[in-house]
Amino acid sequence: MSFSSLGLSEPILRAIGEIGYNKPTPIQLKTIPAALSGRDVMAAAQTGTGKTASFTLPLLQRLIDGPKVKSNHVRVLVLTPTRELAVQVAQNIANYGKYLSLKSAVVYGGVKINPQMMKLRGGVDLLVATPGRLLDLASQNAVKFAQVETLVLDEADRMLDMGFSDEINKIMALLPNNRQNLLFSATFSDDIRKLTRSLLKNPLQIDVSPRNSAAKSVKQSVFEVDKSKKPALLSHLIRNKNWAQVLVFIRTKKSADQLVRQLKSDNLSAVAIHGDKSQGLRSRALADFKANKTRILVATDIAARGLDINELPQVINFDLPKVAQDYIHRIGRTGRAGLQGEAISLVSADEAKLLAAIETLIKQTLVREVETGFVPNHKVPLTRQTKPKKPKKPKLKQERSGARMNPQEEKSSDRKSRRGSKPLDSDQQEQAGGRGRQRRNSGTTSKKNRGPAKLKTGRWNK
Ligand code: AMP
Repeated sequence: MSFSSLGLSEPILRAIGEIGYNKPTPIQLKTIPAALSGRDVMAAAQTGTGKTASFTLPLLQRLIDGPKVKSNHVRVLVLTPTRELAVQVAQNIANYGKYLSLKSAVVYGGVKINPQMMKLRGGVDLLVATPGRLLDLASQNAVKFAQVETLVLDEADRMLDMGFSDEINKIMALLPNNRQNLLFSATFSDDIRKLTRSLLKNPLQIDVSPRNSAAKSVKQSVFEVDKSKKPALLSHLIRNKNWAQVLVFIRTKKSADQLVRQLKSDNLSAVAIHGDKSQGLRSRALADFKANKTRILVATDIAARGLDINELPQVINFDLPKVAQDYIHRIGRTGRAGLQGEAISLVSADEAKLLAAIETLIKQTLVREVETGFVPNHKVPLTRQTKPKKPKKPKLKQERSGARMNPQEEKSSDRKSRRGSKPLDSDQQEQAGGRGRQRRNSGTTSKKNRGPAKLKTGRWNK
């Protein structure tokens, strides 16, 4: 089926034709007609499936007709968990809507608020926002929601994970009840499924990928290595395999900076992207990486959300994420839009539990390898997949019919925000206000060690 049969008009078809989209992806085939008809949608689609176009294209189409947007008002509101994702979505909107006379804008924290207030003054048809900054703008009357026709929650599970449930509640209370809701999530936890039941009206449920599965287009493996040897192994792999563009994930901001220093001392060009870097530095780092000016981008989980780098072939997990679902987000950065990608995790003995949790989540035991010259002194214990834990009750309360909050209430509940949410890891704390604790990992390892990992050598040598 082609895009033209989905009910999109000529200016939109022309724009996506120029970008090179020939046919809709599975999520687009299902979401576009439903969203065009005004129906609520909850879609479980991994990043890289084309989910952004699946909601922006029909919403642009719907906005063509309808009332003119009033000063400071918004007609479509898209909420995203991070600034990077917000910028990415806004860029897509600008690309797809370039032949339409609709106004769009993006607002996020960490930068001056005044220019954003100026942008909103004349009203915008589509606003992409991170929750905290949107509430700041609303409390200053810079943005008004009476004209909102559609709300999109992008990467909703991530927003809850990052502790934004209170902010989402507050925003819901400010929106008109009679609106369309589209909810997207890269992974769909049972918590989110429960939440959507109370939030959405008779939603069309779309699940284009098996729940919590890693993208099939990504070849995954584990390299066993001693912790102290990880930087050397990374440099060795990059050189031996001659990788031109590598995205390296790492848990903390401090270790990201440290790794960049080590890579540079090995004469490899690298830059870190994390929450301590200003928005300008982060944007420049990403632009340089995309333009192949920097070979290695070292990113923390939060900073990497929303990164869309075309044809990124290589993702390295320098360490394993504390939260198993982050592994799926991490490796989803490669193997996008049908291209083949490779994700390699450098795993040391102390990470066996994290590995077990990931393998349980993806229902797959990862292939283990050991590189010549990097045989670990501390062997990584064998893992076994465990039964998933029973899901907890969702924490987000239904506030669709709630009254408008006054700014005072907003302030005091803002102070309390995130308290009732899942504790955050260090980079998430930084983004969400620094109040979280580290989340506990739920995986376990086998007590019995069932023998050594397969020793495979020279794989990366040409
Ligand atoms: P997303 O899942 O929205 O992050 O999109 C992942 C990538 O797929 C982006 O680089 C999009 O530009 C690209 N993309 C989206 N829709 C299509 C399509 N129909 N055909 C080819 N590429 C697409």
